[in-house]
Amino acid sequence: MTDQSEIRDHGEFFCASRPAGSPPVFTRDHVNPDIWHVLPNGDRSCSYCGSLHPDDFGRLLDRGLDPDDPVEIGPTAKGYKVYVSQPDVRNASEGGIIFYSWHDPERLFVDRVVAAAKVQRDRLAALMTGGDGGGGGS
Ligand SMILES: [Zn+2]
Repeated sequence: MTDQSEIRDHGEFFCASRPAGSPPVFTRDHVNPDIWHVLPNGDRSCSYCGSLHPDDFGRLLDRGLDPDDPVEIGPTAKGYKVYVSQPDVRNASEGGIIFYSWHDPERLFVDRVVAAAKVQRDRLAALMTGGDGGGGGS
């Protein structure tokens, strides 16, 4: 229904992180749209900025909300950038590791990102305070 979903269906789009105005690749007669690269693990990433595809990020975000799932969603100091940690992905050549908010212009993921960050914080707190033979203090 939105322009973006139409563009997704066609597999070509213009990454919103491209500089405003007229980026070098855009001329009147020659336009190079961006595409979604398919990474070895099946994740899609923006050919311009490297962000995960919104659908893939949404799927990983759901996993990040499950305290028992190893996928972790890590907000950064930058409000527009979210790290994704997957157990089978060591770096960006293997799968998606980052999502940029300009690929979520309607801000649909904000609440779930905040919730996933809390899941991760709670998991860390449980690890730090759970006393199963860890080196407590004495
Ligand atoms: Zn992009």
